Amino acid sequence: MQQTLSIIKPDAVKKNVVGKILDRFESNGLRIAATKKIQLSRADAEAFYAVHKERPFFGELVEFMISGPVVVSVLEGENAVAKNRELMGATDPKEAAPGTIRADFAESIDANAVHGSDSLENAAIEIAFFFARREIL
Ligand code: ATP
Ligand code: MG
Repeated sequence: MQQTLSIIKPDAVKKNVVGKILDRFESNGLRIAATKKIQLSRADAEAFYAVHKERPFFGELVEFMISGPVVVSVLEGENAVAKNRELMGATDPKEAAPGTIRADFAESIDANAVHGSDSLENAAIEIAFFFARREIL
């Protein structure tokens, strides 16, 4: 059993497809162990994406992530980290496989609907960033 962190990004929240995206997780063997809608501060977004600090798109990425509320969730299941990444599809929605969340709900590489932890180690760090232990059930 693994846990992973999912973020439904501001573009997808604005499009009102939160329920449709959460359904993809539940319909594919993942359980929602925690979820909440929050507005990230600039400091939150900069800290969360600190690994990308030196990348040319960092500024735009932070602006986008604070452009509206996000829905953060802890997903639990067998191989949850890889399973979530598979359901999300490629970072660039143009390259995302048909039927994936990004293929169906994302417009561009910057507004790409969802985030998912990329390793078990980062999943633990990202979950702790957003949730207290008593919120994960
Ligand atoms: P995420 O971390 O959001 O789940 P990812 O792991 O598929 O996405 P990363 O390489 O970690 O992709 O990039 C983080 C985010 O930065 C991407 O989701 C995307 O929004 C943005 N990004 C990545 N590459 C580019 C790029 N070349 N131009 C613009 N934005 C980019
Ligand atoms: Mg990533």
